[in-house]
Amino acid sequence: MPELPEVEVVRAGLEPAVSGALVTAVQVLDERALTRHDGPGEDFAHRLTGRTIEAAVRRGKFLWFPLRAVHPDDAPEALVAHLGMSGQILLGRDRPAAKHRRILLAVQPSGTTRDGAPEPAVELEFVDQRTFGSMAIDRMVPTIDGAAAGFAGAVDERDPDAPWRASIPGQVSHIARDPLDPAFDDARFIQLARKRSSGIKRVLLDQGVISGIGNIYADESLWAAKLHHDRPADRLPRATVQLLLDEVRTVLRRALVDGGTSFDAQYVNVNGQSGYFSQRLNVYGQQGKPCPRCGTEIVRESWMNRSSHRCPVCQPSPRLSTR
Ligand SMILES: [Zn+2]
Repeated sequence: MPELPEVEVVRAGLEPAVSGALVTAVQVLDERALTRHDGPGEDFAHRLTGRTIEAAVRRGKFLWFPLRAVHPDDAPEALVAHLGMSGQILLGRDRPAAKHRRILLAVQPSGTTRDGAPEPAVELEFVDQRTFGSMAIDRMVPTIDGAAAGFAGAVDERDPDAPWRASIPGQVSHIARDPLDPAFDDARFIQLARKRSSGIKRVLLDQGVISGIGNIYADESLWAAKLHHDRPADRLPRATVQLLLDEVRTVLRRALVDGGTSFDAQYVNVNGQSGYFSQRLNVYGQQGKPCPRCGTEIVRESWMNRSSHRCPVCQPSPRLSTR
């Protein structure tokens, strides 16, 4: 599943093409890609055609595109994109249709070329092999804390007070802020985490507590903080949770620089290119290889219908470790 760095790569790639762009045509090729849209394909196409996209915004693994209101009194709306397990958004002109193309948007960018002509139209293709992803038009609601809802790239500097900045699509509003968000509250996260008796990895994957982290970056961060995934969160000292949070941020930032982690050519940027972070993974998918810190063989264990990767020496089982 794409995590924060992989979704940010997609957001950043779309930003220059879609900010201020006009949606000129919408084709729904597979209605399964609208499972989170409240209405049929015609409704989706009707509500999106002729609208102007303000920006590309992300919170954690969630991506949305605020739409300019047609009438000033209209309830604010956004196009929401859930990438699910295998969703991709590709950008191009006259590219051959991708195999699992579900939705196609024709978009007219707002910019002009060097000689003053309008920029050529682009196609935005929603591709999803396993159909867990979805697009939807959703109403925006104000953020609880009044701060900007997510990361919007260059718009944050250009127009920080844009009216849609402190609004979030209703279907994303239960998602917690991600740890790279300036409005993320460390003290609150630490407090929430230390109320949980579950293992610390479950807390890291709980998108209602902290968003953007999935299996890859959870395992990498726990290794960096030398914590076993089943260490009960409520028994971790405050400083340990803060250290883990710091490691989460370091891992996510490094992955962003490398363009995310790509497996099976699935998490790709808008041009279909893969990221390089897989070459820097310390434990995730590294079972049988030596721990980069101590040389012990990394193990892969089944965990909650998924897997966890750890160094048995650096991250001993809670039964064996002391507090
Ligand atoms: Zn080790």
